[in-house]
Amino acid sequence: MSRSVLVTGGNRGIGLAIARAFADAGDDVAITYRTGEPPAGFLAVKCDITDAEQVEQAYKEIEDRQGPVQVLVANAGVTRDQLLMRMSEDDFCSVLDTNLTGTFRVVKRANRGMLRARKGRVVLISSVVGLLGSAGQANYAASKAGLVGFARSLARELGSRNITVNVVAPGIVDTDMTRALDEAQRESIVKQVPLARGGQPEEIAAAVRFLASEEAAYITGAVIPVDGGLGMGH
Ligand code: NDP
Repeated sequence: MSRSVLVTGGNRGIGLAIARAFADAGDDVAITYRTGEPPAGFLAVKCDITDAEQVEQAYKEIEDRQGPVQVLVANAGVTRDQLLMRMSEDDFCSVLDTNLTGTFRVVKRANRGMLRARKGRVVLISSVVGLLGSAGQANYAASKAGLVGFARSLARELGSRNITVNVVAPGIVDTDMTRALDEAQRESIVKQVPLARGGQPEEIAAAVRFLASEEAAYITGAVIPVDGGLGMGH
């Protein structure tokens, strides 16, 4: 049976690979986008997750057109790298507002329908740096570590309602986000990866789809690294 799936930031990068994986399996997939032309094949809703009103409107549209969200993948995220000395309050707060508070906004809104259905799957996209730390990414790492505490608290709150909440923590994956790094930075990260390469968005999507599947019904509060061994299980 097809499910109603929402992938935030599903218009490109890892989010698009996740959206495709669910659509290929026969699910009805909604994606959010902010600007430009969204990819075809999905219910594309315009939504900036830093704006609660836009989140509300997006959910209304999705509920009208494909029913309440049964599987939520909170993938949208940003970086604004800077050493602490030069990191402005805006650099810090804007990254937290998207990656952590934005995730709170979309999960809270999805939870309403999931509680009613007494069933739901939530997967949050964190990062290996959430637990490892990363010089120049204090804002990003704090937001991604925050997602782990957020997910585990919800796993406890919502488990008795048959709603699972899990985290996928990718390592370095080939997308616009990492293409913004210079070659030397990329190489120095890849050198630390036991599998000796960066990941592909489809490899992250496979783990997300598993966590949303029937086979993963007994997994909640987990952090699944998909990082070529970079974080050694963390
Ligand atoms: P991209 O930069 O390629 O894509 C980011 C996505 O997030 C875009 O779809 C973007 O939408 C969306 N987004 C950003 N801000 C907002 C916002 N305020 N409201 C709605 N959507 C927003 O990144 P990736 O695909 O690489 O990253 C996806 C996720 O994976 C992120 O959470 C990232 O932190 C995480 N991650 C990525 C890693 C990597 O190596 N690439 C490693 C570890 C984690 P738009 O097109 O409208 O800008």
